[in-house]
Amino acid sequence: MSKEVQKLNLEELATFCKKKGFVFQAAEIYGGFAGFFDFGPLGVELKNNLKQLYWREFVHKRDDIVGQDGSIITNPKVWEASGHVATFGDMLLTTKDTKTKLRADHFIEDELNIAGDALGPKEIEDLIVKNNLKYNGEDFELPIQFFSGMLQTQIGADVTKQSKAYLRPETAQSIFPNFKSVAETSRQTLPFGITQIGKAYRNEISPRDFVFRCREFEQIEMEYFFNPEVETELFTKELEELKVQVLLAETQDNGKSDMVEKTLGQLVEENRINQIHAYWLGTFFNFFNKSVGLSWENLRIREHTKTELSHYSQATMDIDYKYSMGYKEMMGLAYRGNYDLSKHQEYSKTKMEVFDEATKSKVIPHVIEPSFGVERFMMAVIYESYTDDKERGNVVLSVKPSIAPYKVAVLPLVKKDPIGPKAKEIYDELIDEDIQAFYDESGSVGKRYARQDEIGTPYCITIDYETIEEGENKGTVTIRDRDSTNQVRVKVEEVSQIIRNLIREKIKFEDLQ
Ligand code: ATP
Repeated sequence: MSKEVQKLNLEELATFCKKKGFVFQAAEIYGGFAGFFDFGPLGVELKNNLKQLYWREFVHKRDDIVGQDGSIITNPKVWEASGHVATFGDMLLTTKDTKTKLRADHFIEDELNIAGDALGPKEIEDLIVKNNLKYNGEDFELPIQFFSGMLQTQIGADVTKQSKAYLRPETAQSIFPNFKSVAETSRQTLPFGITQIGKAYRNEISPRDFVFRCREFEQIEMEYFFNPEVETELFTKELEELKVQVLLAETQDNGKSDMVEKTLGQLVEENRINQIHAYWLGTFFNFFNKSVGLSWENLRIREHTKTELSHYSQATMDIDYKYSMGYKEMMGLAYRGNYDLSKHQEYSKTKMEVFDEATKSKVIPHVIEPSFGVERFMMAVIYESYTDDKERGNVVLSVKPSIAPYKVAVLPLVKKDPIGPKAKEIYDELIDEDIQAFYDESGSVGKRYARQDEIGTPYCITIDYETIEEGENKGTVTIRDRDSTNQVRVKVEEVSQIIRNLIREKIKFEDLQ
């Protein structure tokens, strides 16, 4: 799939998501709650499908990655060791009179149209003074303050002795403390990965851009452990030659945003990333492009600048998606060295080293950390697949069948016997076969097709008089394809197998015609 993203602005996207039951504001009847969202019947299906697609590709189909599900609240020492308690947060600007709070890097981005990510507090202060920046005519209190992004809670019944705890701001930190237990119980040896999917919480100064920046969101994260002394066998020729669009660090340092096209091999040769980092960049680029259907031109890699790099990171590359707000981070891929395992070893006094067969020595492994948010992923999928089809007179959401909330809709031409019961029989069989199906008997067939187009259902099965009557079409139903609107008649007894093969892309709809 390769097409220009339909220019839906954020408001239109939010309206569409609400109208169709993908996403609502949390507690909307009470006026919502900034940074929190609820996922409706279609949103929860789409999210689950995206998570399952990831799990299938990265856990079930591979023998070097295993899953885990860590607790949201854990021993606060984890967050002290990782450095989150001391450093996780943002730069906060406060206006002098009304004490309005703004996230400093975002304010600079909006005002001066330059990347705020790469700027430190001193640079932002200088820019404010030099450009005489104000907010609604108000000056700012300087110096800039640090604002912790950690959401706190209290655990235990005794208020006086109550211990402070945190809602995790990322899922990754529950992987590191479990590293040895998981490696031992799953009998994994280097290199191998541990991944998990779960909720994360950040006290974002200004949640915005719909579900792009929330205070509660879901992350998909992986730590891929390896010994840097050992050359990887994963970085294939095919990946080495994979061409990607890149926004380089030096371009951003010069205040520009022009992209260049490079192969992953070139990024390695130029010493920007190591081979295993390049392997994961290419693997996720291919995942988003080929398995999910996000088009090449809407994906780019952005290299973090030296000032922006976290203190532990040796190199970070983001995979950005071109949302209606422009290219923005969908995923981060950081090379964190062995910072986290070393810190947890230091704080917990538990050895984090493992024996590496390849070098016959003990090592505290290094990690590449791919990390992305399910909400940003879901937003990209909706942007990419949304088309307001003027000819049809309705929206078409052309998501890949594997991630569509419903795979098939069963539509009896009329409700009454014998058409209705026959349709119900087909629907029950599809459900029995674990195919997410939707049954709809209200309105004209044209209207029902339009409703399914709008929620991304790739196939509709229509049961009509010919299904029941004598003649050459007896015992057949029509399958209608969402993207081409073509129809084909197939035998009732073959329908669930055909739908299954279509969803798994083992056959193409054209092959049936
Ligand atoms: P940003 O610079 O946009 O604040 P970040 O660099 O702090 O993001 P990471 O800490 O690298 O984000 O988190 C990994 C991923 O988690 C991001 O790539 C993004 O997909 C997702 N994510 C982070 N913060 C949020 C949020 N507030 N709402 C939704 N998703 C988020």
